[in-house]
Parts: sequence; structure tokens; C-alpha cells
Amino acid sequence: MTSTTMSLVDLVRDVARERIAPGAVAVDAERAFPRDAIDALAEQGALGLMVPEAAGGSGGGLSELVEACEAVGGACASSGMVFLMHSVTAATVAAGGGERANDYLERMAAGEALGSLAFSERGTGAHFYAPELAAEREDGGVRIAGRKSFTTSGGHAQLYLVLVQSSGGEGLDCYAVQPSDGITFDGAWDGLGMAGNSSVAAEFDAHVDDAARIGAAGGGGDLVFGAVAPVFLAGLAAVNVGIAAAAQQAAIEHAAGRRYPDGQSLAEIQSVQHALAALDMTTRAARLVVRDAAALADAGDAAALVALMEAKVVATEAAQQVTQGALEVCGGQGYTRSLPVERHLRDARAGAVMAPTNGVLRTWIGKALAGLPVP
Ligand SMILES: Cc1cc2nc3c(=O)[nH]c(=O)nc-3n(C[C@H](O)[C@H](O)[C@H](O)COP(=O)(O)OP(=O)(O)OC[C@H]3O[C@@H](n4cnc5c(N)ncnc54)[C@H](O)[C@@H]3O)c2cc1C
Repeated sequence: MTSTTMSLVDLVRDVARERIAPGAVAVDAERAFPRDAIDALAEQGALGLMVPEAAGGSGGGLSELVEACEAVGGACASSGMVFLMHSVTAATVAAGGGERANDYLERMAAGEALGSLAFSERGTGAHFYAPELAAEREDGGVRIAGRKSFTTSGGHAQLYLVLVQSSGGEGLDCYAVQPSDGITFDGAWDGLGMAGNSSVAAEFDAHVDDAARIGAAGGGGDLVFGAVAPVFLAGLAAVNVGIAAAAQQAAIEHAAGRRYPDGQSLAEIQSVQHALAALDMTTRAARLVVRDAAALADAGDAAALVALMEAKVVATEAAQQVTQGALEVCGGQGYTRSLPVERHLRDARAGAVMAPTNGVLRTWIGKALAGLPVP
């Protein structure tokens, strides 16, 4: 970690605490896209965390990303997801390259273009790496016509990476598509948690020229597994560590502050003390697994892929466990909106079902450990 990226992570922590956390209740209650949070991150240069220095970013690695995602996700899970999807987009464009890649990266680092991924489709669901949507050759470029589902930041981002079957007939292609190329967004995001995400359906009727392709023709599959997956897995795991840590903190504060008429606090009850200990041990263990996986990936270690897949499973399941435990510590009050724990619990339900889902990842981890090809 260089001193520049380290100080950027410190700035992100400050922004998360001072400018993002105060708006989290309203983002959730109003199901509002977290514009102010993203603007605050942009002002500090944080949208360039995964953009190479040559394109105006800070050239961070996964170790910086997981610290930033934990801070933002703990302050506001919706903001954490939006920040993560932008960071994955930037890392993918940087890894894949392409005629316009530098222009996209400069705009993303400057906060002028928020990025996201439009990979998932209703038909293929969790198997987003096998899209049915195909690019068709047309006038020096391709036409992309059809529907993608669950596009986070849908209608709010300026750059969407779209995974399609290659117009060349072999493999997959990844294109950077902008709203003016021909995208409309459908419906309102009504997920249980992550209420500000705007993870809505995107309808494409777009013409893009070949210069908008990211990576080699037919190389989309390699990009998905070599660039998208590591960054997404690490970042999503870290957002979930943030959610767990926030729920744990809320439970500690409530247990210390809530007193019965005889003066005894919840925190003085031994079973509550054990519950708080369990929350801390689960959160700390998940954080260490995530940071270890990120460090292995940054070092180019061959064990990184399994570690990153495991980190996503461990952290998303830890977040579910910790938010449930925190709610029990807080009792009926925790079940209401008077405390933030019910929001953390809803936010923590998304991670396991986001692709690659935990079920799919368990299969891939087992295959990798047994020396079988993944997927
Ligand atoms: C909050 C949120 C944000 C999202 N943001 C984005 C985004 O920005 N961009 C994007 O492209 N997508 C996004 N997604 C989509 C997401 O990553 C999944 O692709 C989508 O949720 C799949 O949903 P499905 O119901 O069709 O899954 P299905 O494919 O129907 O799967 C249902 C269940 O079956 C299990 N299953 C299916 N096949 C197997 C198998 N072979 N082995 C083991 N288990 C299996 C899955 O694990 C899952 O639990 C988002 C989803 C959520 C919830």
C-alpha cells in the first residue's frame, strides 16, 4: 500500500463517517439513490481508487479497496454497493483496455462518469457469465438490443459495462455503453435492503462502435474471471464486513445505554456479554479473511482465487449472522426503525444471493481445491 493510496483510504473513512453515515437513514427510508455520498467520495478523488495513476487515479489494489468498501458499506450499505460497482467497472476497464479505455478511466477518476455493470439477465440469473444477449454487427460497430436485469446505479451511472455474446460468434464481448448510445431503465428498485441501489432492469437498443469494446474481441470471459470477479468478490465481502461492524457497534451502544428501572444495563447481563463477544469474534474473523484474500491477490499469489471466493462466502454469511445476533441483543427495539439494526439486517441479506451466489461459489471452491476447472 503506497502512502498516497493509504491517505486516500483515510479520507474515505472520514467521508464515510462525516458525510455518508448521516444520510443513511434517509437513503433507506426514501429508497433514494445516494447522490450526496457519491459526490462526497468524488470530491476526495475516491472514485479514482481503482484507476491507474496514468489516467488520473490513485492506482489502488484490492487491499485499499477492501478498507474503503468496509468504511463506506458500514456507513451506508447502498452507497457501499454503488461505490463498489463503480470501482469494479474502473478496474475492469483498466485491465481490459481498449481504444477509449483511457478516456473512460479519466472521466471515472474525475467523478464525471459513474460506472456500473449490466451483466445479469433474467433468463441466466446467477450464471451471469453466460449471457444470452448477443451483439450483432452493424455499420462499423455492433447493435446491442435486449434486456439486462439488476443493474445497480441504473439510470444514475454514465458508463455501463455490458457482457454479450460476441458478434464474431466465439466467446463473449464486453462493451462500455453510455445512456446516449440507447439505454432506458425500467421500474423502481424494490429489494428488501440496499434500498438506494437502483438495481433496476436496463433495456438496450444501442449502437456502439468497436472503439467502445473493453478487452480483446471474444475476450469477455477472461475479463469476467480475471478482472471483474476478484475485485467484485473482495469488495462485496468488505461491504458486508462493514455492515456487520456497524450492526455490532449499534448493539454495543444499545446494550450499554439501555437500563432497567433497577439501574441494571443490558450490558451487565452475562448472556448479552456472550452475545456481544460472538458478534465481535465473527466480524473480526471475517475482516481478517477478507484482508488476507485481498493481500494474496495483490501479491499475485496462486491461492488468491480460492481465498477471494471464500472471503465472499465467509463475509456475507458473517454479516447475516452478526446482524441477526445484534437484533436479538437489541430485542423488540432492534426490530423497529428506532435503531439502525433492522436496516443492517435487511442490507445483509443481499450478499449471499448476489452472483456469484454463495451456492455457486461453494461448487467453484470445491472444484478449484480438487484441481477441476472453474466454472
Ligand atoms: C442488491 C443486488 C444488486 C445487484 N447488482 C447487480 C449489478 O449491478 N449488475 C448485475 O449484472 N447484476 C446485479 N445483481 C444480480 C445478481 O448478481 C444475480 O445475477 C441475480 O441476483 C440472480 O438472480 P436470480 O434470482 O435469477 O438467480 P437464479 O439463477 O434463479 O438462482 C436462484 C438460486 O439458485 C442457486 N443456484 C442456481 N444455479 C446453481 C448452481 N449451479 N449451483 C448452486 N446453486 C445454484 C443460486 O445460488 C440462487 O441462490 C444484483 C443483485 C442484487 C440482489
